[in-house]
Amino acid sequence: MNIAQILKAKGRAVATVRPDAPLSEIIDKLAQKRIGAIVVVGDNGEVAGIISERDIIRRLAERGEAVLKEPVAQSMTTSVISCQGTSTLDEIMEVMTQGRFRHVPVIEDGALVGIVSIGDIVKHRVQEMERDSVAMRDYILTA
Ligand code: AMP
Repeated sequence: MNIAQILKAKGRAVATVRPDAPLSEIIDKLAQKRIGAIVVVGDNGEVAGIISERDIIRRLAERGEAVLKEPVAQSMTTSVISCQGTSTLDEIMEVMTQGRFRHVPVIEDGALVGIVSIGDIVKHRVQEMERDSVAMRDYILTA
């Protein structure tokens, strides 16, 4: 299974913000949309960074509530690891494990076309395993 198949099931919507949005706005969006990370996009729609709930917690712990008024650009991760529709679930699981992050934006021809979270990966992996197990049981019963 690949990432394009996951996007087909979950849709291509990606929550984004501009680099100058204050951290308080990010918190509101994360809570409203019940998600764990937001992609930060620049003027030309290019991916400028990613900010997750972990970054915000760390910033608050380090510097206190004053950071809530600061632009997200000061707290986001700028070296974003992305993938393509052709990337496989196994590849992305490896990328998430090695990088210790739970979100990977999907970029095709320079455009942001989706995002996958570790929750999406686990959900589809479990479905895949269930299908394999049913196929194996059918095979054993009919052999
Ligand atoms: P997460 O597990 O997604 O909450 O993110 C943990 C840390 O990794 C945070 O500092 C994020 O900004 C960063 N991060 C999340 N996703 C990515 C990604 N795709 N590429 C690079 N860094 C990321």
